[in-house]
Amino acid sequence: MDITLPRRSTRRIYIGNVPIGDGAPVSVQSMCNTDTRDSRATLEQIGRLAAAGCEIIRVAVPDAKAVEALTEIVNHSPIPVIADIHFDYKLAIGALRSGVHGLRLNPGNIGGSQNVREVVAIARERQVPIRIGVNAGSLEKSLLEKYQGVTAEALVESALGHIRLLENENYPWMKISLKASSVPLMVKAYQSLSAQVDYPLHIGVTEAGTVRSGVIKSSVGIGALLAMGIGDTLRVSLTGDPVPEVATGWEILKSLGLRKRGPEMISCPTCGRCQINLTAVAEAVEKALETETRPIKVAVMGCVVNGPGEAREADVGVAGGRDSGLLFRKGEVIKKVSQEEMVEALLEEIRNLPA
Ligand code: SF4
Repeated sequence: MDITLPRRSTRRIYIGNVPIGDGAPVSVQSMCNTDTRDSRATLEQIGRLAAAGCEIIRVAVPDAKAVEALTEIVNHSPIPVIADIHFDYKLAIGALRSGVHGLRLNPGNIGGSQNVREVVAIARERQVPIRIGVNAGSLEKSLLEKYQGVTAEALVESALGHIRLLENENYPWMKISLKASSVPLMVKAYQSLSAQVDYPLHIGVTEAGTVRSGVIKSSVGIGALLAMGIGDTLRVSLTGDPVPEVATGWEILKSLGLRKRGPEMISCPTCGRCQINLTAVAEAVEKALETETRPIKVAVMGCVVNGPGEAREADVGVAGGRDSGLLFRKGEVIKKVSQEEMVEALLEEIRNLPA
């Protein structure tokens, strides 16, 4: 039986055509690590990310040349584009004029209220949301002194300060992030902020590390928040090619039952009862299903003693025996196949599942 997790109630914004907040599906974002000025390389990477399931993409906009490249990127990107701006309000204005669907910008860092007003005027006219992105690595000096270092309270106070600047301009479309590389710190900060404001929250663990440690830290931090109903859109941040960020984001959402996309693999850890090369079978099945988009559950289990029962919720599965396997559907055995036939027989059953 599916268990539905609570979702905190938030306001709705749209990044392009992607809804965020107010019960919208938690969306998966990523960020390009190409040079934005190289629009070709950036679009190529956006294409790969979109194919992997990325729904919103962010690009760094460090200078005027990057702003110039934005028009082409926005016009050819298959998914909405967010411009990531630091300090320079003119870059923000240029990015908005290029047609970006979202801005990431901290209004307290762009040189005063007149600059905020100018950015907000164009963002309002174009109905472009702004993400306030507070980061533990770049907190205001005054807050570091007040709290004697980076604390959850300091992160929240920083966010509330930036929020106030936009609220002073009656600007309604914002989302907030409070990222830190420490999981307990980011969890505590998001919990605190979510109790104080109802803007949608963009969640993530920043500088989470390479794939091995980053996947775990992100899954624990993002997963803990989502399990409490906190978080409206997410980004897993990993060092290296961003495509695995997207797959990890989807796996987090799938594992919590918040989204469905492609197959969910169930395979046992094996034990002394297993008499087949289960790893090879599971890997072959997983590889064959790389382009499968139906939200199906597929089980690859080590033995017939417990396998079909342990994987009862799977749409289809195989359980190994002595040189053979049993194919099963929803826990019911349907036929016996030889070890050599096992993978193909399972794939055939999967092809026959209803669309
Ligand atoms: Fe062991 Fe069988 Fe369970 Fe796999 S399915 S862990 S082989 S008992």
